[in-house]
Amino acid sequence: MPQPHAPTALLPATEDGIIRAAALLRQGGLVAMPTETVYGLAGDARCPQAVADIFAAKGRPAHNPLIVHVSGPEMAREIAQVDPRAEQVMRAFWPGALTLVLPLRAGHGLAPAVTAVLDSVALRMPAHPVAQRLLAAFGGPVAAPSANPSGRISPTTAAHVMAGLGGRIAAVLDGGACPVGVESTILGLTGARATLLREGGISKDALAAHLGQMPAPPGDGRITAPGQLASHYAPGAAVRLNAMRPRTGEVWIGFGPDCKGAEFNLSATGDLAEAAARLFATLHSADALGRPIAVAPVPDDGLGAAINDRLRRAAAPRGAT
Ligand code: AMP
Ligand code: MG
Repeated sequence: MPQPHAPTALLPATEDGIIRAAALLRQGGLVAMPTETVYGLAGDARCPQAVADIFAAKGRPAHNPLIVHVSGPEMAREIAQVDPRAEQVMRAFWPGALTLVLPLRAGHGLAPAVTAVLDSVALRMPAHPVAQRLLAAFGGPVAAPSANPSGRISPTTAAHVMAGLGGRIAAVLDGGACPVGVESTILGLTGARATLLREGGISKDALAAHLGQMPAPPGDGRITAPGQLASHYAPGAAVRLNAMRPRTGEVWIGFGPDCKGAEFNLSATGDLAEAAARLFATLHSADALGRPIAVAPVPDDGLGAAINDRLRRAAAPRGAT
């Protein structure tokens, strides 16, 4: 069970705030940290109690493994078996929005629940300077799934984290809004063929250029990532997609210059990077109005694939796993 915390501390992203956050992690506490993708709920990945508390604070099912955040390739090599293919994509995309699923190495030292007792582990080196400084101050691997209640809209500001997890975690390190705004791309490298486990901040075309082949879609239909659950990232309200205009009572979220009169617009100029950065904050704001949500079509290229993936899951019937 998570320890009852008197009000969750809001720490500034100063040297002092980061030192206090690292001390909390060392005591087995949970700290939400800004990353370039979304806020992560960080805990010591080697500490079984901290890891159990992450699952409990999020209400996350135990079969969904957590991404372990590392300070760089060196820490990754201590935890996982890193083949030349993994070295190549780490060189190209780390630090950044790419998570690699790799075979665990003997003596990795992680709490078994982090990987949901699989023999593979998901690793990422974040690019956000505050996350990097926290990892350096802490000096070890940090498990950090998105800092929101399981299945709900992901957090891209400290206020989103406070609204979802306030009172259930030790602290939030406030680094402002997350610049990428959608979660990392997850690439499976445990088999002969690289597998795209989740669309995200790095496009599959960019990966293909470095892998020499297009990553395969996940093959056997087994759920290895919560990003694969049909319903995820879900607002409280119903969500309707590809809406060219709103129906009576709906909040309309537009995309591009043609959506005149939309209450929100992911990007008035049709810029996909801007739309990704604003996606979750816009869903949070629209949801707060308490009306059904309609979203305009978003093109599927580049970051659009990750945006549409999140929107489809936000719109999926609830409880569909
Ligand atoms: P979240 O941080 O909530 O976006 O979730 C972390 C993501 O990493 C989830 O999609 C996990 O299922 C995925 N993940 C973590 N470890 C593994 C693993 N060993 N194999 C496949 N996916 C993983
Ligand atoms: Mg998540």
